[in-house]
Amino acid sequence: MNDTKVVIVPCSGIGKSYGTVTREAAYDVVEDLRPDETQLVALSMLVLGDETARAAVAQLPAVTIDGCKLACATKMVRESGGTVAREYAVLDAYRRHREMKPAGIAELNEGGRQLARALADEIATGIDQIKRSLSADWADSADSEAEKSAESAESADDSSSAEADNA
Ligand code: SF4
Repeated sequence: MNDTKVVIVPCSGIGKSYGTVTREAAYDVVEDLRPDETQLVALSMLVLGDETARAAVAQLPAVTIDGCKLACATKMVRESGGTVAREYAVLDAYRRHREMKPAGIAELNEGGRQLARALADEIATGIDQIKRSLSADWADSADSEAEKSAESAESADDSSSAEADNA
C-alpha cells in the first residue's frame, strides 16, 4: 500500500465541548487507531504560519475535524494550500449518536469520550479509503510510466531498424 501519511487537523475549539471532542477524536486516530498512517497537525500551528505545519498540509492529504459549522480546520487547511481529502463534523457524528451527549471542556464526560471514539472509528475507516485510492492512483501512474517506457523502447527499436534498412 502507498506509504503517504494522512494529516489529521482537529479544530480543537477552545472553550467548547464539541471542540474538545475533535481533539480527543484526533488523538484516538493518531495514537491508537492509525498511528503508522497519520500525522497530527495542530490548527494553532497553521494559524501561526508555522512552516513545518504548512508544508505538511501542502504535501499530504488532510482530514479535518470541526466542532461547529464555522469549520475553522477545513478553512485553514485550504487557506494554507492543502487538500482536504475528507472533512468531519462533530455535530454530524452527534446526530448519528444522540445517546452520546458531550459535556465538559478540559475533561469530557463519558458521553463526550464515547462520541470522540465513535468519530475516530469513522475517521479511521475514511483513512483506509483514502490510502486505498492513493495506492490505486500510484498503481495507475506506475502503469502509465511503464507504458510510456515500453512505447519509447518500441519507437527506439523502430528507428534503429529503419536506420538499418537505410544503411
Ligand atoms: S470550528 Fe467551531 S468549535 Fe472549532 S474552532 Fe472553529 S468556531 Fe471553535
